Amino acid sequence: MKRFSQQPVVALTGAGISAESGVPTFRGDEGLWRDHNPQELATATAFHRDPELVWAWYAWRRELIAACRPNAAHKTLAAMERELEDFTLVTQNVDGLHQAAGSQRVLELHGNIWRLRCTRCDYRTEDHSVPLPNLPPCCPACDALLRPDVVWFGESLPRQVLDAAWRAVVDCQTMLVVGTSALVEPAASLPLLALRNKSRLVEINPSETPLSEHAHQVLRQPAGEALPRWWSAFKK
Ligand code: NAD
Ligand code: ZN
Repeated sequence: MKRFSQQPVVALTGAGISAESGVPTFRGDEGLWRDHNPQELATATAFHRDPELVWAWYAWRRELIAACRPNAAHKTLAAMERELEDFTLVTQNVDGLHQAAGSQRVLELHGNIWRLRCTRCDYRTEDHSVPLPNLPPCCPACDALLRPDVVWFGESLPRQVLDAAWRAVVDCQTMLVVGTSALVEPAASLPLLALRNKSRLVEINPSETPLSEHAHQVLRQPAGEALPRWWSAFKK
């Protein structure tokens, strides 16, 4: 039997892990903004039709997230990175709270709300200012519109990030799935790949998901409570 620290572990997180920090998920009622559904705002079509509207929504989310702090679940994952020899954190979140908790290596499948990129040239920047001085922001290199460096519905995920996630999942012995409804592809396929490779699947989510019936262990509690407890037990 390998020591706990030698076991390869992957954690996949979704919006639920940040819920206790005060970041709304998209699927709860508080996910609506000025009667708009995120699924209608987080698209390239919406951005081209009305960049002011989409940027106003992102400005609101940036302000909201700026006031949030990482919770015990984010901190536990940062500790796991320090204490495990082979640990990979994959997130669908764009809020940067994993990094704020101390995680150094985060595979961000859906980008990051604190990065902006040009819609025309290769310009990219990280900008934590709240509020942004100009909305919508323009590219200092070519004057075209900047957009949030996030993956919108209908767009493809960054190839290298997704490949690194697939590789980690194929090799892992334990996969933790925390605070994700496991509905958004291709992230939802990662736990299924882990199962196919005989890894142990642990789900932490207060609600049932399509993954629940396949998981070896299901913890129906908020991540901030369940994850620290699970980690203590794992280390014994
Ligand atoms: P999701 O599909 O990942 O669903 C949220 C899940 O979290 C639900 O299954 C819910 O039961 C669970 N949950 C709620 N509270 C929890 C808690 N305290 N502990 C553990 N689990 C909890 O997320 P979504 O909101 O439908 O968003 C879809 C996509 O939108 C995400 O993949 C992400 O890219 C983006 N998003 C990101 C953020 C963020 O960065 N914080 C927030 C909202 C949406
Ligand atoms: Zn540009």
